[in-house]
Amino acid sequence: MSSHFLLSKAARSLSLARVARLSDEEAFDTFRLVRWSATKGEPVCPRCDCAAVYTYKARKLWKCKACSHQFSVTSGTIFASRKLPIRDYLLAIAIFVNGAKGHSALQLSRDLDCQYQTAFVLAHKIREALGADADERTLAVDVEVDGAYFGGYVKPANDRENRRDRRLAENQTGKRKVVVVMRERGGETLPFVFRSEAAAVATIGRKVAVGSTIYADEAASWDRLHDRFLTKRINHQESYSTEEACTNGADSFFSRIRRAEIASTTISPARTSKPTAKRWRGARTTGGCRTVNSTSWLRRRSYGTR
Ligand SMILES: [Zn+2]
Repeated sequence: MSSHFLLSKAARSLSLARVARLSDEEAFDTFRLVRWSATKGEPVCPRCDCAAVYTYKARKLWKCKACSHQFSVTSGTIFASRKLPIRDYLLAIAIFVNGAKGHSALQLSRDLDCQYQTAFVLAHKIREALGADADERTLAVDVEVDGAYFGGYVKPANDRENRRDRRLAENQTGKRKVVVVMRERGGETLPFVFRSEAAAVATIGRKVAVGSTIYADEAASWDRLHDRFLTKRINHQESYSTEEACTNGADSFFSRIRRAEIASTTISPARTSKPTAKRWRGARTTGGCRTVNSTSWLRRRSYGTR
């Protein structure tokens, strides 16, 4: 029987100890290699993609020969306008992505000895980058689909006579949302946030390749998937897995998210709207941290300043 992914060597590809031992110069070179992996660390203008650049001797800056744009190693990435040393960002990424069950911003602020707000924004930036990466990906062959509700917690009143039935729509905050995950067997995991499971069907149609087989539970929201895909259903009231179908992969993803919800204290609707950190963790538990070696997660959607 194969061991769990987190027990394997592949799960230790981004070590906190290794990052912590880097000098400033080594951290800079590491970041440069990650960012411009296609050119083996050689700078490329973020504005016009030109590889011909002037190098400044005194400062760690480059100037594009084509468009004269001056840029640094973080220009055009989520770390543009950075205040912390580059090593701290590498540390933040290592801490964040290795926390398979979540890592709160408060804990990150203690780890990095920075203010809570700095850690909070940093964690969100990493989530945003991972989310942007998810936008570009599609799944194929065998894909499990499932949904789970997060956020919008209503605290029960102290006195019994003041308590209301929190199951009724009028007593809810309206902030509760459903995270729908698409999980390719042996491959990628893509979660998205919707108001309801039914609202996810169009996105599933876009993200899953034609000809794939979808595995889903008996929720009525998934009935429409039969129009587009060969869809196999599993009735969880009878069994969790049959020869025909199971959604155990998607369920194990949500098991992680539930633990992350506890570990990071709260998952507010604002945070569930970018459940990308969980996607990362999901990816790590199945396919390893491929994403850390690619550059797309570093890219901002719109180009910013240095
Ligand atoms: Zn340029």
